[in-house]
Amino acid sequence: MGTATLTIDLDALAANWRALDAMSSPACETGAVVKADGYGLGVARVARTLHAAGARRFFVAVAEEGPALRQAVGPDVPIHVFSGHMPGDADLLRGAGLIPMLNSIEQCTRHFDALPGHPFGVQLDSGMNRLGLEPADWAAIRRIVLAERPALVMSHLACADDPDDPMNARQLDAFREMAGGIDAPLSLSATGGILLGPDFHFDVTRPGIGVYGGLPFAEARTVVRLSVPVIQVRDIAPGETVGYGGAWMADEPARVATLAAGYADGLIRRMGTDAVLFHGDTPCPLVGRVSMDLLTVDVSHLEGVPDWLDILGPFQSVDDLADAAGTIGYEILTSLGSRYRRQEL
Ligand SMILES: *Cc1c(COP(=O)(O)O)cnc(C)c1O
Repeated sequence: MGTATLTIDLDALAANWRALDAMSSPACETGAVVKADGYGLGVARVARTLHAAGARRFFVAVAEEGPALRQAVGPDVPIHVFSGHMPGDADLLRGAGLIPMLNSIEQCTRHFDALPGHPFGVQLDSGMNRLGLEPADWAAIRRIVLAERPALVMSHLACADDPDDPMNARQLDAFREMAGGIDAPLSLSATGGILLGPDFHFDVTRPGIGVYGGLPFAEARTVVRLSVPVIQVRDIAPGETVGYGGAWMADEPARVATLAAGYADGLIRRMGTDAVLFHGDTPCPLVGRVSMDLLTVDVSHLEGVPDWLDILGPFQSVDDLADAAGTIGYEILTSLGSRYRRQEL
């Protein structure tokens, strides 16, 4: 087999969702964010697993992600679209029964014109300045919008991964101010906000990354394992270099394995020689530059030639690998390429 194997532990995925669900009161509904193809793991398998675990409300980024999710979870589960109602979306929203989270006066007008009576929600900007109605705009149209009975009123926290950031309390106040006296269900928190405690939970939470095993949910179970096959192994003499640019030079005799995955598969080139792969629990350092389709790894200290090495798994999380690449676990997960053979555990 020439391609790496991405193993997705669906029990761990379900356990992470249940653990996050257990952090809020039974009166608070825990949804699930499955945008970007279920954070790169495959929206159908992720959504079916979380539905079986008890999730009854899902979120995607854009309407185009809706139909595949609808097919996976069946007709009766609410699916919300964070980007709201974009021009030309009406057929898709109606066809797949999606709930756009309206972000602006323009989107509200578009929605009420194009799909009168079709369910919608509202996204408010409590300070992140990315999506949602600004306080002044909300004040201007609030009465009209509430009369149409939104299915959900939400906002999003900018700094929830850091419990000490004063922005959290400021956004909480702003959300309370804007959403006060509304009888629609309210939602403020993603994974980080759930961990901030009950003040942040409101009626519905929207965990994403924690379900998939990433920070800030430090207690999460590992969900992904990525095993990369060894194509060949060679002995390198002192003074010889490995890979593009001759960026790594052996200073003693070494044995280097060439593995079948590279930056085209989401193994970010920048991770360079800070990254390691694992043979069982034995670390093996990456040497030389990451190529498009290949990695070179020092296996001098291993007995024999391994069939594969793991780059993600119990010994190296998406966040560990992200650290080596100067990025975040979210980017590692959602970059995992289409060439991997994906299998479920
Ligand atoms: C992506 C996203 C989430 C999920 O965030 P995580 O940090 O992955 O838990 C929730 N709400 C909104 C608006 C999002 O864009």
